Amino acid sequence: MTLDTPLASLKGVGPRRAADLAAAGLHAVGDLLARFPLRYDDRARFRDAASVRDGQWVTVAGSVASCGLRLTRRRGFKLFEAVVRDQSGPLRAVWLNQPFMASVISRGAEVILYGRAERRADGSLQLTNPQYELPARGERGSLHTGRIVPIYEKAGCVTCRMQRALVRDALDRLPADAPDLLPEWLRGELGLPGWREAVEAAHFPPEGAPLEALNAFRTPAQIRLIFEECLLFQVGLALRRRRADAERKPVVPAVNDRVRAAARAVLPFRLTAGQRQALKEIVADMAQPRPMQRLLQGDVGAGKTIVALLAAVVAMENGLQVAFMAPTEVLAEQHFLTIRRHLEPSRFTVELLTGSTPAIERRRIVEGLASGRVPFVVGTHALVQQDVVFSQLGLAVVDEQHRFGVMQRAGLREKGWRPDLLVMTATPIPRTLALTVYGDLDVSAIRDLPPGRQPVRTLVLPESRRDEAHRVVRGELAAGRQAYIVYPLVEVSAKIDVRAATEMADHLAAVVFPEYRLGLLHGRLRPEEKDRVMRAFAAGDVHVLVATTVIEVGIDVPNATVMLVEHAERFGLAQLHQLRGRVGRGPHPSACLLVHQEPLGEGGEARLRALAQTTDGFVIAERDLDLRGPGDVFGLRQSGMPTLRSGDLLRDRDIMEQARRIARDLLERGPAASAIVAEARRSWSGRFGLASVG
Ligand code: ADP
Ligand code: MG
Repeated sequence: MTLDTPLASLKGVGPRRAADLAAAGLHAVGDLLARFPLRYDDRARFRDAASVRDGQWVTVAGSVASCGLRLTRRRGFKLFEAVVRDQSGPLRAVWLNQPFMASVISRGAEVILYGRAERRADGSLQLTNPQYELPARGERGSLHTGRIVPIYEKAGCVTCRMQRALVRDALDRLPADAPDLLPEWLRGELGLPGWREAVEAAHFPPEGAPLEALNAFRTPAQIRLIFEECLLFQVGLALRRRRADAERKPVVPAVNDRVRAAARAVLPFRLTAGQRQALKEIVADMAQPRPMQRLLQGDVGAGKTIVALLAAVVAMENGLQVAFMAPTEVLAEQHFLTIRRHLEPSRFTVELLTGSTPAIERRRIVEGLASGRVPFVVGTHALVQQDVVFSQLGLAVVDEQHRFGVMQRAGLREKGWRPDLLVMTATPIPRTLALTVYGDLDVSAIRDLPPGRQPVRTLVLPESRRDEAHRVVRGELAAGRQAYIVYPLVEVSAKIDVRAATEMADHLAAVVFPEYRLGLLHGRLRPEEKDRVMRAFAAGDVHVLVATTVIEVGIDVPNATVMLVEHAERFGLAQLHQLRGRVGRGPHPSACLLVHQEPLGEGGEARLRALAQTTDGFVIAERDLDLRGPGDVFGLRQSGMPTLRSGDLLRDRDIMEQARRIARDLLERGPAASAIVAEARRSWSGRFGLASVG
């Protein structure tokens, strides 16, 4: 047996179980072993049956004094009961609706039980549905009881118990001298155990292993396995970066006085210190012979667009073309309008190309891009997907894309283009994560806001005080401002969602704000319809925009000064932060009203409080890290983060950072690291679900 042996060849794995395992991402023995238990239970210490108290989790060993199936009063409901006796006395165990237990446990058998003691109506104690084991004579149990036991997440019909047996079987059949990916010198340097020893101890901790460290995933064995996975990932990143650095641009932009003057000419305001610094880093990168690979991070409203535009002028002044990609048509159009306005004082023009560009128009633009006559194009990612050809693409800007341009990067590569790449995001990924997970991108961050911005006043209100929230909205509308009212999608059924949003919009229009014009925006509207509503809101013809979260990203209407969020407790912290970023974009003071249902759970309360306390996206990101469960932060799952099996991006940030440092050293070592490098290439796309390293 090897790590590549399919699970279907393990004892007890038929087609159905194999399919369920596969659905959980478990195909081969290696997958199974890489999947850590969720937690570990201490079932090592045996209790005397007579000393068991109500409510305790206990492990008891004894022999079966009597047992049998019983029918209960509920028809067809079977109950298997056994009385187990040790030297101190008897204890009853009951399995509900598991009649097969009758063929597992028989009178006189030695059993070990683990479960919670409950008091019965007659005052005696029983274990209900306990874990059980039938140890060989003289043994004290070794798999499901009588030790520190691994608890696995169920995989379809494959229970935790079955997985435990599968893991044991796999470990027993793997050759003792299974190859170790980490060379001995590296293990020695880091003080990490060998793979075989680590994988055994991570699943079946040796006697006396510290339970707390185990459940924090910080035993040497666990660290060793997490580290290996992080290292493979980081070696892959380093390889990808190395490949990018080896590429050469056909034209390296020059930055001279003429270029600077041209950039200044389009600049409508003084840049903030943060914008200046970011621009400096970007332009320095553009002047390098290798293509830029840079992430520009900046909170909502930080002014990333103008920075990208100045970079675009540098490219265009050098005779290069610029492609600016936005995630939606609405945003592409908005960028197009902004950029066109900014470019008026320059000699450059800009075109908009999306899926709904009319055919004739489209032909004209596509020809212009191919001939080089069109220097700047804004569009959706259709720009790289459709058969668009550039005469000399020098800069690609990807805006507000949750997957951080992963798709666009792949698209550009496929076309054989090697432009400077600038990926912009308002998602305040904590620095440690950005550095380690986007380790092949350089990061520029704008941490300040344009002058004159006033922090958005944030109020948290229970539903019973919704009237107050409406009064605030009304006050703003009376002053000539505009408002957003946001309603969460509940996701059970898009139809019901839309109905709820529609009904609420009707109610608001008819009853609450009858003297104002309301518009409704939700994800099921046709693009033209969305555009129509958005345009009316931007033009001030619609006063209140009732919306689901489709307004989350990028929309810029400075006259909108108040946002009311319904069911605020249902949104994540990052989402609320993004939403709130839609107001406070102009000279007027703004407010965000978070209306929540009662009672508010602990998590919900902490989230809403955090929002009321700060408007700094980076602080919020760090708070989010603390508040949320691992793997759950900022919808990272959707954001193109790698899927780790043993490791967890948040819990194991420190290990990931260490792996990042070591990965770079390793690549310098050449042959000494060749096995890891080969494995990193192999596992990159499959295991981490990322585009290939090449
Ligand atoms: P984001 O970083 O969220 O994409 P934008 O680029 O849309 O932010 O900028 C938000 C608003 O701030 C825009 O209206 C923009 O014109 C304005 N802005 C950006 N930089 C400055 C600045 N240095 N001074 C004044 N206003 C600015
Ligand atoms: Mg933006």
